[in-house]
Amino acid sequence: MSLLITNIGELVTNNPAGSGGPAGPGPFASLASAALVIDAGQVAWAGPAARAPAADEAFDAVGRAVLPGFVDSHAHLVFAGERGAEFAARMAGLPYAAGGIRSTVAATRAAADDQLGANLRSLAAEMLAQGTTTFECKSGYGLTVRDEARSLALAAEFTPEVTYLGAHVVPEEYAADPGGYVDLVCGAMLDACAPLARWVDVFCERGAFGSDEAAAVLAAGTAASLQPRVHANQLGPGPGVQLAVRHGAASADHCTYTDDADVDALASSATVATLLPGVEFSTRHPYPDARRLIGAGVTVAIATDCNPGSCFTSSMPLCIALAVREMRMTTQEAVWAATAGGARALRRTDVGHLGAGARADLVMLNAPSHAYLAYRPGVPLIGAVWQNGNRAA
Ligand SMILES: [Zn+2]
Repeated sequence: MSLLITNIGELVTNNPAGSGGPAGPGPFASLASAALVIDAGQVAWAGPAARAPAADEAFDAVGRAVLPGFVDSHAHLVFAGERGAEFAARMAGLPYAAGGIRSTVAATRAAADDQLGANLRSLAAEMLAQGTTTFECKSGYGLTVRDEARSLALAAEFTPEVTYLGAHVVPEEYAADPGGYVDLVCGAMLDACAPLARWVDVFCERGAFGSDEAAAVLAAGTAASLQPRVHANQLGPGPGVQLAVRHGAASADHCTYTDDADVDALASSATVATLLPGVEFSTRHPYPDARRLIGAGVTVAIATDCNPGSCFTSSMPLCIALAVREMRMTTQEAVWAATAGGARALRRTDVGHLGAGARADLVMLNAPSHAYLAYRPGVPLIGAVWQNGNRAA
């Protein structure tokens, strides 16, 4: 059954005529008074409502805006426990106490599979209700061969974008032997995890993994057919961005502290800079300089980094509002980064745009334009969601 969605006030396609299509998203593009036809799970046609072809069924958008579903390219959803008290203490001005991640690791190791699965299911449902139709999901709270492998197996039940993050932090039992832990991440743990994942990630940061260790993790992961992405330059300047570019990573994530050489490296590479403004919001750290990155020609994505410690939001609309208000991105740039940018960061050509042939993942706002996502922050604007052509929320 084909479906015609007509009377769309603003249709964001990210597909200016002739530039998108099967090759993936193009630059931001939108149409007023538009219509779109879904057939067999794909966008069959998009254009002016007056020229819309007939379809089996019709849906009147009554002037509302339709956007590509959000693509959240960075999330940590396999965990147990919560850290609300740690957040409250941080907001009360107490210094950040290291060991937060370790408490989540302990809770995750102790949790039964069905408990981890239920938590993941509820977060995935939360994302979908807020318009996210594609999300990436990392391991990284197990940090044993068994717990990393079961985290990835659980994630794979919900998304094809599964990321092996055994190199999240060095677990307590390896505190005296971090090199031994890197060997495990690149050895037996990778052997168990590589068949379950598409991506390999490493937290390259002072206090986590240094340049040589991170390079070893990425090289081992690549040799096991995983594609690299990197947690880079979050808490201070460091080698993460350059490392990501050198290893051909799909994305360098955070990019909060970058220098000219980092920005130049990103601009002359295919590596996307994925900005995670929910983290800065939730930790009161300074935001990354999105204007400088965009000005240099870097491809920018926005994602949530949903995790129980530094940022426990699953809301792409909130992250769009923060990107506009706090990082001075235009509303068009922010919406593009949350859709097409996320698709680029996951090297996906079938999502992030609504050109003919794209997956029929779309969001209808209870508002006439995409700008409302930032103009009306905190308001539940998601009126309907289609995923793979099916009404999902
Ligand atoms: Zn992260």
